[in-house]
Amino acid sequence: MKTSELFGKKTVLSFEIFPPKPTADEKVIYETLDGLSGLNPDFISVTYGAGGGNNCSKTVRIASDIKHKYGIESIAHLPCINLSEEDAVGILNQLEAEGIENILALRGDITAEVTPNGRFTHADELIRFIREKYHFNIIAACYPEGHIESKCIVEDIENLKRKADAGASQLVTQLFLDNDFFYRFQERAALAGIDLPTEAGIMPVTNKKQIERMTKMCGVQLPEKFRRIIDKYENNPEALRDAGIAYAINQIVDLIAHGVDGIHLYTMNKPYAARKIYEAVYSMLKV
Ligand code: FAD
Repeated sequence: MKTSELFGKKTVLSFEIFPPKPTADEKVIYETLDGLSGLNPDFISVTYGAGGGNNCSKTVRIASDIKHKYGIESIAHLPCINLSEEDAVGILNQLEAEGIENILALRGDITAEVTPNGRFTHADELIRFIREKYHFNIIAACYPEGHIESKCIVEDIENLKRKADAGASQLVTQLFLDNDFFYRFQERAALAGIDLPTEAGIMPVTNKKQIERMTKMCGVQLPEKFRRIIDKYENNPEALRDAGIAYAINQIVDLIAHGVDGIHLYTMNKPYAARKIYEAVYSMLKV
């Protein structure tokens, strides 16, 4: 099923997972999926490190298992910065052969480990390429606070419009900790003529180092009330985990009350936090 068809009937709930590291035991991802599949998600998306290696085949295999073994719709992430056209065709053909219908088409981060190929410089180019040659449902990433490389949010929204015009039919946001950024982003996107179902990306923060790294890497702002929580509980992992879950629940309750199209939970492969959040909000998702 194309996940874009799910919107409008209820508040969509989806999860994001990442493939295990090469050194980790493969079975850990199936333990994660066993924990998440009981929470009735509308779909699960699987990341793909632009660094390459055999991560791509893991993404394809896990996305295929989510769909065929767990009976849950899946989305495969596909960053394009280091791909040649041949590489892209190879992966897209594999995804098609596995019956995967949904792709989150991304540029990927430009880091020391990634050598840009030059064929696809921005996500809109990959989106257009997929739209012209395949029948996948295409999802694109968006940034309520603006992408870290953008000069301003207005420029970033113009670039988002390119992705919509190229053929994306659904959006998912980077994590944010202040819902006002999301509401302002929605207004700006609507003014720019972007009319696509948009999931709010929410991350239950359970670790101080992890959120500090993310905010630096992605340019996400830490609201004062959030900073107070991590400062207070940084040396008590259990309390910090519970406070992070409570904070995410508050964000989600407010988003649902504002009529958000969907919630995309960055699970960090931790079913415990996803379960606590699901238990707190599942009755609200149906209304
Ligand atoms: P783009 O849309 O290409 O945007 C990148 C920058 O270029 C922005 O500043 C934008 O304003 C600008 N821009 C866009 N189009 C144009 C254009 N045509 N001309 C000029 N400027 C332009 N990374 C991974 O490697 N693997 C993953 O699995 C992964 N999953 C993600 C999931 C989500 C929900 C999100 C939000 C991000 C994910 N990322 C992942 C990170 C993502 O690859 C980075 O945020 C990356 O820096 C930008 O990707 P993009 O697809 O938004 O790029």
